[in-house]
Amino acid sequence: MAARDCIFCRVAREEPPGQIIYRDDRVFVIRDIQPQAPVHLLILPLHHMASLAYVGPGQEQMMGHIFLVAEEMARREEVTVSGYRLVVNQGFDAGQTVDHTHVHLLGGEPLLPLGNNRS
Ligand code: AMP
Ligand code: ZN
Repeated sequence: MAARDCIFCRVAREEPPGQIIYRDDRVFVIRDIQPQAPVHLLILPLHHMASLAYVGPGQEQMMGHIFLVAEEMARREEVTVSGYRLVVNQGFDAGQTVDHTHVHLLGGEPLLPLGNNRS
């Protein structure tokens, strides 16, 4: 999919305006439109990258930067001490629905243990 048609690239271009709560030269952060926890943010690279399958040499700094920004956002949302979870859905089995890679930051209440994935 071309960056022109990608919903998260459109958000990055401020179409529509007002969704971005943090931005720097590499990443931006928005609130998830269908929050699954009291705090549910998405941290995204500014440049279109469909999924982690496309990450490559030269992007180590940007990928590491996403984690620093996630922690900064957690601090701003006051969930660093109570705890939070970072999630990347990669591809079909994980349920990735938007093809512009993003890290979910979830917190603000106790989250279900990951062990619930298997019965
Ligand atoms: P994933 O399933 O990991 O691909 O996550 C995609 C996430 O993007 C979902 O949690 C959606 O609720 C969220 N989402 C989709 N469109 C928008 C949008 N325009 N603004 C904010 N969040 C969105
Ligand atoms: Zn995109």
